[in-house]
Amino acid sequence: MLDSIHVKALLIKIADMFIEKQDELAKLDAVIGDGDHGVTMARGAKAAKAKVEALEEGTCRDYFKLYGRTLVSTLGGAMGPLFGSIFLELSKACKGQEQIGLQAFTHGLKNGMTKVMDLGGAKPGDKTMVDAMDPVVLSMEKSLDDGKSLQEALSLAAKAGEEGVNHTIPLIAKRGRSRYLQEKAIGHQDAGATSYYYLIKTIGEYVQE
Ligand code: ADP
Ligand code: MG
Ligand code: MG
Repeated sequence: MLDSIHVKALLIKIADMFIEKQDELAKLDAVIGDGDHGVTMARGAKAAKAKVEALEEGTCRDYFKLYGRTLVSTLGGAMGPLFGSIFLELSKACKGQEQIGLQAFTHGLKNGMTKVMDLGGAKPGDKTMVDAMDPVVLSMEKSLDDGKSLQEALSLAAKAGEEGVNHTIPLIAKRGRSRYLQEKAIGHQDAGATSYYYLIKTIGEYVQE
C-alpha cells in the first residue's frame, strides 16, 4: 500500500522517467509518426512534476488528480486527455482511501483504459497504447483474483505490458498518425504503447524500493 507521501514521490519518479526517455520516445514516434511524442511526454512531465512538488499534504486522490489535470491542460492534441485519463482514473479509484493498494490500482488502470478507448476509439490490435494497456489490466485483474501482493502484481503487469508493446511491432495502425503509413508501419513498435509500458514498469520499480 502506498500512502499520499509515497504517491507524491512516485509521481515525481514517473515524471523524471518521462524526461529521461524523451529521446528514445521521440525516435520511436519519428519512424511511424511525427516525432513529437518524446517532447510531448517530457513537457507534460515537467509541468506535472512542478505542480506535484508544490502541493503539500495532499491526499493520494489529490496528487493523481493534479498530475492528470496538468497533463490535460499542458498537452494539446490527443495525448493530454488520453494519458491524463490514466491519472484521473487512478485518482477516482483512491476516493475515500488514505492509501492505494492493488485493488485501487487495478480499478484505476482498468477505468483509465476504458476512458482512453472511449475518447480515442482505439481497440486492442489498432497499434496504439491500448495494446499495452489491455494485457496490463488483464494481468492486474488476475493478480487481484489470485491474491498476489502489489509488488508481484506490478512486476507481472510490467512483463505483460512489455509483451503488449512487442505485439504492436507487426501490426498495421488503425488509429493515430501511423495509420497513414499502412503496411510501412509493420516492423516498428508504437511509441504510445511504449510510454504506457514504461509507466507501469516505473510504478513497479517504485513499489519494490
Ligand atoms: P500525435 O500523434 O498527436 O503526434 P503523440 O506523438 O504524442 O501524439 O502520441 C502518439 C501515440 O498516441 C501513438 O503512438 C499511439 O500510441 C497513441 N494514439 C494515437 N491515437 C490514439 C487513439 N485514437 N487512441 C489511443 N491512443 C492513440
Ligand atoms: Mg506524434
Ligand atoms: Mg503530433
